[in-house]
Amino acid sequence: MTRYRNNNKRRAKAPAKAIQKNKEKVRPPFRIIPLGGMKEIGKNCTLIECNDEILIIDCGFAFPEYEMFGIDIVIPDFTYLKENIEKVKGLIITHGHEDHIGGIPYLLQEMSVPVFASPLAMGMIEHKLEEYYLNCEGHVIKSGDRFSIGCFSVEAIQTNHSIADSLAYSIKFPGGHVVHTGDFKIDYSPLDGKVIDLNRFSQLGDQGVDVLLCDSTNVLRKGYTPSEAVVRRSIDEIFDNTDRRIIIATFASNVHRIKYFIEASMEHHRRIAVSGRSMENLLALSRSLGYLDDIPDSVFVDVSEARNIADNKITIITTGSQGEPMSALTRMAYDNHKSIKLKKNDVVVFSSSPIPGNEKVISQIVNRLYEKEVDVVLASAMDVHVSGHASSEELKLIHTLIRPKYFIPAHGEYRHLAEHAKLANALGQSKDRIFILGNGDALEVNGKETHLVREFTSGEDVMVDGYGIGDVGSVVLKDRKKLSQAGLITISVALDSATGALMAEPILKTKGFIFVEEHMDLIREAINVVYNTIGKSTSKGALDEASLSRAIKSDMKTFIYNTTKKSPMIIPVILYV
Ligand SMILES: [Zn+2]
Ligand SMILES: [Zn+2]
Repeated sequence: MTRYRNNNKRRAKAPAKAIQKNKEKVRPPFRIIPLGGMKEIGKNCTLIECNDEILIIDCGFAFPEYEMFGIDIVIPDFTYLKENIEKVKGLIITHGHEDHIGGIPYLLQEMSVPVFASPLAMGMIEHKLEEYYLNCEGHVIKSGDRFSIGCFSVEAIQTNHSIADSLAYSIKFPGGHVVHTGDFKIDYSPLDGKVIDLNRFSQLGDQGVDVLLCDSTNVLRKGYTPSEAVVRRSIDEIFDNTDRRIIIATFASNVHRIKYFIEASMEHHRRIAVSGRSMENLLALSRSLGYLDDIPDSVFVDVSEARNIADNKITIITTGSQGEPMSALTRMAYDNHKSIKLKKNDVVVFSSSPIPGNEKVISQIVNRLYEKEVDVVLASAMDVHVSGHASSEELKLIHTLIRPKYFIPAHGEYRHLAEHAKLANALGQSKDRIFILGNGDALEVNGKETHLVREFTSGEDVMVDGYGIGDVGSVVLKDRKKLSQAGLITISVALDSATGALMAEPILKTKGFIFVEEHMDLIREAINVVYNTIGKSTSKGALDEASLSRAIKSDMKTFIYNTTKKSPMIIPVILYV
């Protein structure tokens, strides 16, 4: 485009209408590249690239899978962004959940990018960045706002989700028009009264949308996701029917729901104590941003004073709905909480549903609560929680309003993406216009055709161990797995540096493998194996450290496996004296 304008003076003087026509024909190509969030739920991050400019949508992290020993979190691979750092123009955030903002500190450690987010999400991002001693150029936006980032004209659209201020985006740029729904549901009676802007979705559909990226989390659920109003009714019922202490565990970020717990408590003349660091932080943030403006400070009481208040005059709002090990509710369940001792007939409400993978720890806690004769209220028995994601009928409505040329199912495991593709197809979208992408794949769109490029860039998981980025490779993980399953054996060997003769009996130590005193025979046999190996190596003249180490490791591995069927990690330590 730039070259055409600079070099072709004759055409540049053509009448405006002709140029307009010509522009239509030469819409520049663009790419959509998900770096995370495809075929998984977590670490959402998608790029739109056009005219040598890149816009990033969301930058989340994922919690590690069970097999990733000692890994704190997993983030997207930012290699493509690092390689094209001068193209990166901005990062827009759909909402403040960790799978959408958790990766930002790691991205900003690599490059500086202006960040656009709604007030609550921005507050959460800033709080996060403080922990990493990072700053960012932050722009607070709200639904209805339109702004430009490089060649991208972005519009933020109101949606509903389980956190305040969730946004979808319409992104127009020289190559086309992309709509990204973010995480959403359709709630006609949300607690904050701000209903998803279906009218705007419909208008955008009329204008023409090239690509729709849409939340797939709940595509397997039939019908409609219930409104938050359902939770309100259940909470009212609980408050109306008990004069016991009420303890509610929920996600700290569900600000509107927490506000409702507070309002219901006030109506029943209960004061509120908050327990758990993330809950306290988020409540402080929500209050400073004005989400709790009509709640007087006087209703809050410090958690250390909660025990001095009559049972029917107090509500405790706590973290731990996912059974997190150090969370306030877990500490209460195991009698480790400084201020709160659970009592018989306390009412403990789980206003949450288990995130896949957490079911087991949650049921352990629920069992502990039952042992204490606490009345446990779970979402499976009473509507004290509803999902924040659209079910299939809601998704159908969005597809019908937007009628995109191409569709990319997003935010889901493979089964969700595949089912969402089927749903779109059933609504009339032809299969060759539906693309299931993996992380690192690219959809390339130009005026005439569309290509799916597999493995366009790296879509690998990057593991973060403590504060280090990407310093834990798969070898380290394998080692940790081995250690956790079968322990460790070290074999220390001292050799004469001149002759290679053994200077002392090899020393064999184990950790987490077997109880040595009960298996002295095995240890003696193992030491014999070391003698044999050294003998063999001496006769071959292979006594350098590397080959001897390799030989000891290999022979010991075979011996240990044959006698115990275990594969501990084996570390030979060779000293030349
Ligand atoms: Zn979300
Ligand atoms: Zn999400």
